[in-house]
Amino acid sequence: MKRLRNKTKTHLGAEETAELTDFAKVHQQRKNHRTYQENRKKRRRKVLKIVVITAVVIAAIGAIFWLNRDKNSVPTIHSETLEGIDIESIIEWGNTRIAVHYPRTKNATVNKILADFAEETVKDFKNEVNNYPNNRDELNMSFKTYRYNEDIVSFAFDKYTSHEWQANGTNTSTAMTFNLETGNQYELKDVLAGNYLDELSKLALAQLKTRPEFNDQDKQAALQAGLTAEIDNFKSFVLEKDEITFLFDQYQLGARDVANQRVSIPLKDLKNFLKKPFKSADESESSPESDSLPPPANPPSPTDISGLAGKKLVALTFDDGPHPTNTSALLNSLKQEGARATFFVLGTRVDYYPDIVRRAYQEGHQIGSHTRNHKDLTKLSAGDRQYEINSTIASIQKTIGIRPTTMRPPYGALNQGVKADAGMPIILWSIDTEDWKYRNANRVYNHVMSHVRDGSIVLMHDIHPTTVQAAARIVPALKAQGYTLVTVDQLILARGGNLNPGTVYSSMYP
Ligand code: ZN
Repeated sequence: MKRLRNKTKTHLGAEETAELTDFAKVHQQRKNHRTYQENRKKRRRKVLKIVVITAVVIAAIGAIFWLNRDKNSVPTIHSETLEGIDIESIIEWGNTRIAVHYPRTKNATVNKILADFAEETVKDFKNEVNNYPNNRDELNMSFKTYRYNEDIVSFAFDKYTSHEWQANGTNTSTAMTFNLETGNQYELKDVLAGNYLDELSKLALAQLKTRPEFNDQDKQAALQAGLTAEIDNFKSFVLEKDEITFLFDQYQLGARDVANQRVSIPLKDLKNFLKKPFKSADESESSPESDSLPPPANPPSPTDISGLAGKKLVALTFDDGPHPTNTSALLNSLKQEGARATFFVLGTRVDYYPDIVRRAYQEGHQIGSHTRNHKDLTKLSAGDRQYEINSTIASIQKTIGIRPTTMRPPYGALNQGVKADAGMPIILWSIDTEDWKYRNANRVYNHVMSHVRDGSIVLMHDIHPTTVQAAARIVPALKAQGYTLVTVDQLILARGGNLNPGTVYSSMYP
C-alpha cells in the first residue's frame, strides 16, 4: 500500500510540475514586468497546494481500492497449531491399497526421522502382504499435529491395517514430540522427572475408571493392569500448551470395546515433575482456534450450465490433494486457459492447505470430497465410514463456506453402505490415467488424448508434479479439439443428470 501511494504521488507531481514549467515559460515571455516574480510565487504556492491535495485524494482512493483488493483476494485461515507444518501423502493402489500421510517440518533432522518412519511403515506392510498379492489388503496411516509452543510439536500417528482374512482392521498409535528449532526428539523422560510414573498411573486410572466403558469388575481389573507404573504404558504422548495426552495401544486397556482411549492431564497437575523447558509453562493467552471465514466473494457457479448445450464437454478431475505447490501450478494452468475442473480433496490435507482449496473454489472449480484419510470405506464400520465422510464435509464447509455436492470414494470402492452414507452423488471416472503409478507426463498426456470423448470424466492426481505438467498440455490440446472443460456438476446437469444422493456417475456421453 505504501509503495503504491508513493508511486502515485511522485508520478502525479512530476506531470503537474512539467505543466507548470511550460505555463510559466509562456507567461514570462508575454508579460515581463516587475511584479512577475511575486505573482509567480503566489501561483506556484497555489498550484503546489492543488498538487498536494490531488495527490492526497488520489492516494486515498488508491488506498481504498488496495484495501478492497486485499479483502477480495484469498485470505489466510489462521491456524497456529499447523503453522509451518506440511503434509506428505504416499498413495498407491494395486490389489494392496496404501495411503500413508506424514508431516514435514522446517527441520531437516526431524524430517528425516518422519520420512524414514513413513517409508519403513510402507515397506514393512508390503513385506507382510507380499505372499498374498491377490488379497485386498490395506494400510492407512494418518496423523494429527499438536503444539506445545512455537518450537515444540507433537505428531500422533494412527496406523490402520486391514487384511482380507480379518473381520476388523487393526489400529496402532504412535506419537512423537520434537523441537523444531534444535531437531531434538523428546521422550517422556525428557519431559518429566522423579517418580512421575506412579503419578501418571494414579491420575490416568482416576480418569478412566469412571468412564462407562469400564463399568464392570473385569474391565476395571484389565484397566488397572494396563496402567501400571511402567514406561511402556505411557510411551505414546502428545504435548499441548496446557496438557499432556496419553494414547493407549488398541488392547492395552482391555478388549476391542474399550479401544482408542486417551487421557489428558493438565500440566499444572504435574508441575512437581516437569523438567525444563516444560517447567516454565507460560500461562498467558490461550491460542485461538482457527476461524471459519465467510465464503469467497461470488465465485463462478460450479453448477451453471448456460451456454453448454450442444458443446463437446469433458470433466477433468484431480484427487488426493490439495498440494501446496503442485495444485497451485495446476490452478495457474487452468486459469490461463479459462478451463474448469473438479478437485476431490482429502479432508486431512484440506486442514493443512485451506488457502489452496479456497483459491480453487474462487476460480470456479468444484470442490468434491475424497473423504478424510483415504481409507477403503467398504472395509470400515458404519461409524468409522461416517466419520471419514462427515468430517471431510465439515472441513470443506469451514474452508469455502459451502458443503461439497459430490464425492469420490477412495480407490473407487463402493458398496450399499457407502452409497447410503454418501449423502451426495458419487463420481467415478471413464478414463483412468494411472498417473500415480507411472509418474510420466507424456504418458498421461497421450493416455488422455487417445481416450477422450464427449462426456468423459478423467481421473488424475494433483499431488504429482508429472500430472500437473501433463495437464498444462492436456488443457489447451482439448480446447483445440473443440472441448469445453467443465466441472462434474456442470457435465452431469448439462447432460440431464439429476445429482441425486447415492447415484453413481462414471461418464456423461451424449
Ligand atoms: Zn485417491
